[in-house]
Amino acid sequence: MRTCRVPGCNETTTKFGAYCTTHKAITRRHGDPLQEGITKAHLEPYVKIVEARIVKNATNPVWSQLEERWLALASAAGATLSAYHNGRPGVRQEVLAAHEIKKLREAVEPRTVIVMALAMYVMLDQEPRRFRSDEAFTTQLVRRVRGLSDVNVGEWYDHKTNRMKRVYRELPPRVVQVLANWIVPVLGGVGIKLAALERADQEARQKELTSFHQAVSDLT
Ligand SMILES: [Zn+2]
Repeated sequence: MRTCRVPGCNETTTKFGAYCTTHKAITRRHGDPLQEGITKAHLEPYVKIVEARIVKNATNPVWSQLEERWLALASAAGATLSAYHNGRPGVRQEVLAAHEIKKLREAVEPRTVIVMALAMYVMLDQEPRRFRSDEAFTTQLVRRVRGLSDVNVGEWYDHKTNRMKRVYRELPPRVVQVLANWIVPVLGGVGIKLAALERADQEARQKELTSFHQAVSDLT
């Protein structure tokens, strides 16, 4: 056994892996051994930004078109599941991913899924260092979208704290990446566009402020 590959970690690796038990678990859960989970609270300001952008562009058909695209993805997932239940062999991670999409479709409004995914792209643009890699980003994207559905949360009683503890049901990383491969093409383009618009707006505001300060300092 060797030392965990994460810099500064002195634990020994698991039998066949490059990381210790802890970092292996974090990698499975978050897509990178050093990736921190993005919480709903982290995302909240970006959700507000996306909602404001939707209000600003209320008559633009893109929002309903995104909903249609999401629903089309859900239909395709439904077809994958039906075929599987009718005995057609399916790729395991695709069947599991289809099941996740079905749960989301049944529990969450399409618009809510869309806003959450778009907010992740704005966050990526504004806080790129929060994401350790592309895979870590898509893993967080899938986690936040899945987190919209309570179906994925199990509860158990924690005797240490005398409280009900909510536990997020983990998906195998391969299933997460299948989900990302389905969701990103549907919502990613608009996400990147909104992120660019937000940045341009901020730069314009900053420029205004700088020119105001300049004017003030030029007063004689
Ligand atoms: Zn480690």
